[in-house]
Amino acid sequence: MADSRPGEQEIVFVGQVDLGGVFRGKGVLGHEWPYRCRWGVGWPPANLMLTPFGTLADNAFGARGDVFIVPDPATLTEIAAAPDEPPVRIALGHLRTRSGDPWDCCPRAFLEAALADLEREAGLHLKGAFEHEFLYTGLEHRLGDPFSLSAFRRIRPFADRLVAALARAGVPAETVIPEFAPQQVEVPIVPAVGIAVADRSAVLREVVRAVAQSFGEHASFTPIGAPGGVGSGAHLHFSFLDGAGRPAAWDPASETGLSSVAASFVAGVRRRLPAMVAVTAPTVVSYERLQPHRWSAAYNTLAVRDREAALRICPVRPGTGRPEAEQFNIEFRATDGAANPHLVLALLVRAGLEGIRDRLPPDAPFEGDPDGLPAADLARLGVERLPTSLPAALERFAADGRDLMPAALADAFLGVKRAELAELDGLAPDELVRRYRAAF
Ligand code: GLU
Ligand code: MG
Repeated sequence: MADSRPGEQEIVFVGQVDLGGVFRGKGVLGHEWPYRCRWGVGWPPANLMLTPFGTLADNAFGARGDVFIVPDPATLTEIAAAPDEPPVRIALGHLRTRSGDPWDCCPRAFLEAALADLEREAGLHLKGAFEHEFLYTGLEHRLGDPFSLSAFRRIRPFADRLVAALARAGVPAETVIPEFAPQQVEVPIVPAVGIAVADRSAVLREVVRAVAQSFGEHASFTPIGAPGGVGSGAHLHFSFLDGAGRPAAWDPASETGLSSVAASFVAGVRRRLPAMVAVTAPTVVSYERLQPHRWSAAYNTLAVRDREAALRICPVRPGTGRPEAEQFNIEFRATDGAANPHLVLALLVRAGLEGIRDRLPPDAPFEGDPDGLPAADLARLGVERLPTSLPAALERFAADGRDLMPAALADAFLGVKRAELAELDGLAPDELVRRYRAAF
């Protein structure tokens, strides 16, 4: 990301994605930048309890206390949405206590600790990228749109500006695609390593929103944009590098293509997945997306090249000029653009590292359609239907997923989500979807 010093009178927005999935923080003036990189910006602990709709969940912090969002200078970058508008400079930060230690409730610190453990215990670095789908009001829907040249031509000015703005923000796009659903667009990006995987997702969402706004339009990462509509995911493609930077996830001799360590990691994720989805698919409408036959993930399956799997082994192709070991990656599909990317990645790493510690054997890849299989068959195959609603997912997380997180962070997350549920209680599907579309 760009790292030049901000102008003296320029406001740099310092923040992070919060537990509700919204990028929040405060601005600092450029002439104070070096000082602010140490001091941070003051942040009432209660702000942690904001729901995606900007209301405050009940909490014990009240008006008291202070934590600090301390910018990470390596993340300083800019959102340049339109050629005739000055760019907005932003930086991601850590939540720190007054003594400077990471606060237990900081999602970025949680991810950093998980990645450090993965490196220390397994010698692995995570490489990956979130692949976002979103709804863009500037793509007026016409019959026959999915993947069509006609739709592409109509989003071309938006796509060009988006590619340029993403490059400038340090989040290089691979392409921009008109997707399957009405008004749906997808942006795959170039993979990064470590915490940057999540940072890039956070920045990408803001760049997309800003570029849409520069056209007088709106982009939303809501998992569902209309009652009964097609879902939008934020699939996480990932693989591993060893200490020397060599690909470590691939073994062409195995049944799935996974190396033994990657297979244990994936088995660990699969084992914990039903208890994790509250975090990775965190809204009421996320569960409309996570249904069978919607090309998302309704079961905790690992499968080879199957878009209904929670963990999909992606294809590699020989003779393309790029080694297969470098192409090989796993796609985690049970997540969406309303989730906090740092929490998603941290939970994935925590669950996967457990699998490595427990030396879980490779899972046999699932074949066929789990929907409609008798419960006994599913149990025999070690496959489970994921929770079918946010309340059920939160209950499952509270019962056997929360130990993956620092206790205070898990409590805060549950508090925010329960307040969100209470706020939406009894709303008609149209209104529910409208609120999520506006919030994300
Ligand atoms: N829109 C689908 C989802 O909700 C994904 C379609 C695809 O495979 O790209 O995850
Ligand atoms: Mg897609």
